[in-house]
Amino acid sequence: MTAYRLALIPGDGIGVDVTHAAMQVLHAAAKDRFTLETTSFPWSCAYYLEHGVMMPADGIETLRNFDAIFLGAVGWPETVPDSVSLHGLLLPIRKAFNQYANIRPHRLLAGVEGPLKATGFDILCIRENTEGEYSGAGGRVHQGRGNEVAVETAIFTREGVERILRFGFEQARARRRHLTSVTKSNAQKFSMVFWDEVTRELAADYPDVTVSHMHIDAMAAKMVMAPQDLDVIVASNLFGDILTDLGAAIQGGLGFAASANINPERDAPSMFEPVHGSAPDIAGRNIANPIAAFWSGAQMLEHLGEAEAAHAVLTAIETATARGIGIRPGLNTTDEITGAVIAALEA
Ligand code: NAD
Repeated sequence: MTAYRLALIPGDGIGVDVTHAAMQVLHAAAKDRFTLETTSFPWSCAYYLEHGVMMPADGIETLRNFDAIFLGAVGWPETVPDSVSLHGLLLPIRKAFNQYANIRPHRLLAGVEGPLKATGFDILCIRENTEGEYSGAGGRVHQGRGNEVAVETAIFTREGVERILRFGFEQARARRRHLTSVTKSNAQKFSMVFWDEVTRELAADYPDVTVSHMHIDAMAAKMVMAPQDLDVIVASNLFGDILTDLGAAIQGGLGFAASANINPERDAPSMFEPVHGSAPDIAGRNIANPIAAFWSGAQMLEHLGEAEAAHAVLTAIETATARGIGIRPGLNTTDEITGAVIAALEA
């Protein structure tokens, strides 16, 4: 029987709860098909307070040996600035392992009511995950003085832009063959015009895919007014980050928004994590919705080649939500939702 080696980084707050819940569901999905051998790492803001770093110096090399990484959520702004926790763990992992494609699906699960009249949307957002506005290039001078200056440069490389767009085209080809490239090339006349040019160049290789170009502001409106017209969206790191919180909102909330950080070349592990953060306001209360983590787990099984088990997890989630379990905040505990999904898997 195949055994997959998983690195778990539960992180902070509800990240710990939803990781625990997701592993129960994934073990149930594995049944007698395969096994999941998990190793948990305590890297988090609590770890930072003790050790002065978010993960040890050899953290990346340690993770490299695993088949996949599952992360709960990282961040505890009361004790560690978000800029430190994000740049000390999540971003280095995404960059070191070339997890350049961040895949975030947005659709309404059975039984879940979103805030929109539109219900029949199924959007796949592909966010560039390693460069762009989150490259970390910049600096501050004259700190604390009246003439203080802060500079942050977005970096767009041809390699980075080409590979994310190509990934988006491939996803569109496997779905409804419509790709929307999101930029702001009217205002950002270097990087975003470059992005548009590369999109047009690559489109020649995908004549079967219809390509649309939209500005980020127009796309924000479109996702609210006519989300059913969208198929695959490709966007830069910052734009994708923001649009996918909007995507989470229209699918009923952050508790339903899954994400996969993929290394398409598979020369390093990919990482799977719910879109939401550590939710300090509800941490430790057993009320976090674990469905986003379950769905991210299904994406992980799919990536590992266990499509049948991935499908079983998604079906079990929707069996539970169709019965009204976990469809609104506060309706069920984390444990109840987990139990319902496991029961559906084992039925
Ligand atoms: P958040 O996603 O943690 O919470 C936003 C709101 O959504 C809160 O009211 C929270 O209670 C609610 N919420 C989120 N997930 C939920 C779930 N599964 N079930 C029910 N309610 C849920 O965002 P935030 O408050 O902006 O950030 C808190 C911390 O998390 C910060 O430190 C931030 O940097 C970090 N963060 C981490 C990640 C990550 O690890 N990938 C992502 C986003 C934010």
